[in-house]
Amino acid sequence: MVNETRPEQCAFCAKSFVRQPMGRPRRFCSPACRQAAYRLRTSADLVAARAETWGRLGRPKVAEGLRREASLIVSGEYAAARAEGLDLLAHDWEALGDRKTAAELRAEAEHLRGGGH
Ligand SMILES: [Zn+2]
Repeated sequence: MVNETRPEQCAFCAKSFVRQPMGRPRRFCSPACRQAAYRLRTSADLVAARAETWGRLGRPKVAEGLRREASLIVSGEYAAARAEGLDLLAHDWEALGDRKTAAELRAEAEHLRGGGH
């Protein structure tokens, strides 16, 4: 039996949490994150549909990002999927001239990707 506590990374918010040695493996730091991940999972089809729409509107980069987001959601990479979504959003804010908000969104995306650890 493995008798140690080792930090795990939440699959939704990318926060580190300590797994209880006796407990069964958990992927999320809290019930709230598990719940949010479930909601995100049920939205994968919607994200894929949005990708198609943006593709038809002549925004292939956005479509590509959304497709990547959808496939990450399907494979359970929730934090990475959210990072992808935030990057797309940051791109939009930048286009609107709000570099500060764009930078904040990018920093959040970086955190979700596990950067800066
Ligand atoms: Zn979490």
